[in-house]
Amino acid sequence: MLHTPLTKLLGIRVPVVQGGMQWVGLPKLVAAVSNATQCVITALTQPSPMALRHAIRETRAMTDKPFGVNITLLPTINPPDYEGYAKAAVEEGVKIFETAGNNPGPLIKFFKSQGCLVIHKCTTIRHAKSAEKMGVDILSIDGFECAGHPGEDDIGGLVLLARAAKELKVPYIASGGIADGRGLAGALALGAAGVNMGTRFMCTVESSVHENIKQKIVESNETDTVHIFRTLRNTARVFKNKVSMEVVAIERRPGGAKFEDIRELVSGQRGRIVYENGDPDHGIWSAGITIGLINDIPTCQELLERMEREAEEIIGHISSLSVNPKAKL
Ligand code: NAD
Repeated sequence: MLHTPLTKLLGIRVPVVQGGMQWVGLPKLVAAVSNATQCVITALTQPSPMALRHAIRETRAMTDKPFGVNITLLPTINPPDYEGYAKAAVEEGVKIFETAGNNPGPLIKFFKSQGCLVIHKCTTIRHAKSAEKMGVDILSIDGFECAGHPGEDDIGGLVLLARAAKELKVPYIASGGIADGRGLAGALALGAAGVNMGTRFMCTVESSVHENIKQKIVESNETDTVHIFRTLRNTARVFKNKVSMEVVAIERRPGGAKFEDIRELVSGQRGRIVYENGDPDHGIWSAGITIGLINDIPTCQELLERMEREAEEIIGHISSLSVNPKAKL
């Protein structure tokens, strides 16, 4: 078994957690992942704080294991009632929160004042250190490989995690680019207490994402994502399709683009329909470059058992290299 500060803090067996995923972090998947390890409901996928309360109750009906809630603070078309979502989740008894995005200070302060455990996701060591000062319990260090928003500094996980090992005092987990036991073993070697995965969990039996999209992920490789919003300094890695390529073309026009020029194309409401009707070209949908590593649609339990087994084997092989330097991994 892989014992780390993460497994100890969260009381889980495998040092793997699922982070927030807009339109994907829904009760059925959260319950399935929480039955095997730790997971978060994505707050903003719910239309209101009241709907989040219902999602929390629905998840509880499917698992007796603890689960958390993700709140991400990024530019949105309709600014959400972040405080309302946070209060609703705390009042429903949620004790674990994943925060991400801009100016998380007030939210982190609120959750800590309520005795909650906070995992804060960030893409630079500078932001990680500042969150550490705010009292977060675990940092989720998100490399450039990740789905969604990688920040604007473009640092890959390998360097970011090695820097985290030198700079951070609180336990940190690796996020972005991990989809198998090899990635888990690599993250542990880089000093992480575990890993956070998104895209990999999207492609499981229990994920509500349409089967066509899961198949699309299985068929795709690591060159099938693209960054949008680069010119607006709100970079997001999404699946490369007709809509995302149109957005990139508009952003590259002489004189650039304003958000209004692409608003209809990138709207989250339009992206949500991709997961419902299974048309991969209907709108924008997030995907990490781990799609190059995803070749099947297992149950969450199967996935986690396999990752644990693979990581243990690899760690064992690495140890054996000192006695047999020709051993192949
Ligand atoms: P939305 O429909 O409000 O916006 C769609 C996309 O456009 C988002 O990526 C958003 O960041 C971006 N955007 C909106 N206004 C912008 C502006 N003025 N300038 C630049 N970019 C702008 O988003 P949604 O799909 O309803 O999602 C709600 C929020 O959750 C967004 O902020 C989104 O980025 C964020 N999000 C969360 C997660 C998560 O895991 N929790 C994952 C992906 C995105």
